[in-house]
Amino acid sequence: MSNKNIIPIFVPHLGCPHDCVFCNQNKIAGLKDISVENERKTIQEYLSYFKNKNDIQIAFYGGSFTAIDYSLQNTLLKVAYEYIENGSVKSIRLSTRPDSINEKILNNLKKYGVKTIELGVQSLNEEVLISSGRGHNVQCVYDSSKLIKDFGFELGLQQMIGLPRDTEERAIETAKKFVEIGPNIVRIYPTLVVEDTYLEKLYKSGKYKPLTLEEAVDLSAKLLKIYNRNNINVIRIGLQPTEEINYNGSIVAGPFHPAFRQLVENKIIIDKILKTLENKKIRNLEIFSNNKNISTIAGQNKSGSKKLYKDLKLKSLKFVDNKSNDIIFFDRDSLEKINLLDW
Ligand code: SF4
Repeated sequence: MSNKNIIPIFVPHLGCPHDCVFCNQNKIAGLKDISVENERKTIQEYLSYFKNKNDIQIAFYGGSFTAIDYSLQNTLLKVAYEYIENGSVKSIRLSTRPDSINEKILNNLKKYGVKTIELGVQSLNEEVLISSGRGHNVQCVYDSSKLIKDFGFELGLQQMIGLPRDTEERAIETAKKFVEIGPNIVRIYPTLVVEDTYLEKLYKSGKYKPLTLEEAVDLSAKLLKIYNRNNINVIRIGLQPTEEINYNGSIVAGPFHPAFRQLVENKIIIDKILKTLENKKIRNLEIFSNNKNISTIAGQNKSGSKKLYKDLKLKSLKFVDNKSNDIIFFDRDSLEKINLLDW
């Protein structure tokens, strides 16, 4: 995860001429009035909260930033750039569509100190892109990613799973193609059915079936392993819970969980532990690691501990915080120690 302090500025649906089947930007980003006054107010507020003033980034989220009118882009960027010039903010990031990138746009973003550009790609399968109403093709993603990298920006790619006509195989193919493109960061979002979207209609008429939570966690775990193996930093898995993105918000259906990433990491580590210990016949197990790893292994509502008890037929399981990143298993009966590296 990034250690940056992020100042989020939401740019809801402004200028986006598209209607992706899953998107209702007004609901996702919140109906915030985007104005220079609000931008300034948000930046000032966040600057006063941050204790660590060293690595602060302004992030334009939601919508498609570079599809907005140049004059509004520049108005928003100018305000952000003032804070870079006075040294209180280090960099700017923004998210946009792959077909809203060209040399003129990138030259403009350079001028204002933008460091990171994230592309909402969602899938690198043509059929999925068409069924999701994205309005751009796969080649466009390759071209814009190359241009962004050639200009020296950091590249982020966002992948969605569970879109119409997506399959596990297609999602894994997309992740492999992302690796070939070589982004600096990736985000993985399971598709949720949000109110007032075309996807809601498809869902209600029985033409779309979202992934279950279990399917989304399993698939995300497979994708995370691909990115981890290739040293690509996955900075988010699952949408951030907000008033709208929540059980009582605008979500109609789909694999929402407020701590989705922890479910995915728990799945990866429990599978790895079971594989490592499967033939060891350990009955009284102690696990030594730091608190973070321990809570990931134990899982929410102790789901990880329960699975270890059940699948390994344990009589006892004890966690010991030894402040270490390593994960060491200690078999109380045989006094054997096993170190699990690279989980
Ligand atoms: S391009 Fe982005 S903002 Fe526009 S409809 Fe699609 S997801 Fe929403």
